[in-house]
Amino acid sequence: MKLHLLDLGNIEYDEGFALAGAGVSTRSDPNPASPRRKVAIIAAAIEHPKAGVVLFDTGAAPNFAELWPPPVQELFAITHYGDENRLDNALAAAGLGLDDVRAVVLSHLHLDHAGGLEFLRGRDLPVYVHGDELRNAFYAVATREDLGAYISHYLDFSFDWRPLHGDRIELFDGFLLHRLPGHTPALLGLQLELANAGTFFLTSDQFHLRENYEQGQPLGWLLRDHAAWWRSHRFVRQVAERTGARLVFGHDADVLAELKREPYYD
Ligand SMILES: [Zn+2]
Repeated sequence: MKLHLLDLGNIEYDEGFALAGAGVSTRSDPNPASPRRKVAIIAAAIEHPKAGVVLFDTGAAPNFAELWPPPVQELFAITHYGDENRLDNALAAAGLGLDDVRAVVLSHLHLDHAGGLEFLRGRDLPVYVHGDELRNAFYAVATREDLGAYISHYLDFSFDWRPLHGDRIELFDGFLLHRLPGHTPALLGLQLELANAGTFFLTSDQFHLRENYEQGQPLGWLLRDHAAWWRSHRFVRQVAERTGARLVFGHDADVLAELKREPYYD
């Protein structure tokens, strides 16, 4: 099994989305600046000996500038999206093509993770996602309760949705999904057991940034369930301590740059 990490562009946002308390005023500093942060859009391609090429997340749609509502583009500005950041080209750089993809697993259905399904529209591919996440996403768009995080262009019936259930799903050998509620009700993290490189844990947006994990600083405005987030945090920490897993956070550009020094892990 081989793991390729894909760099699908950069977003710049107010740090308060990712880190609780960023820029908070205090008695001695009543008017602090709101810190901004440049983060990465991260996905992965896994070459599995039996299942073939499996994508874990897809990034944003290539025509995000037309599809993302203007307020979303203001808040979560994609500040870099070069040709090399398109999903098809990022796969090509890993020696793979869209034609090689046999399945897609989505950690959750936010627009910067599932919007890249546009690259796979019309292909006969299973799209795996937790069933409770699938329900939540369609509900959010239909009711406009969480519109902006979920948008409708990829939430349609033409994709071959394959809902998964339970808290722990071994979808393929050595390819283990864990339900990590907090950022969304049923976000899936991916634990990969590689023969040489050992264990990797792709946490997706349970942790946007290293600080969320290492300093136990919860997500900021992107947090939906505080108590669940802490339970998920403790669970990932326990798995990481037991397995020595290397962690890939949902949007941490520094961690991505560090890990991308290797072309792939096997
Ligand atoms: Zn995200």
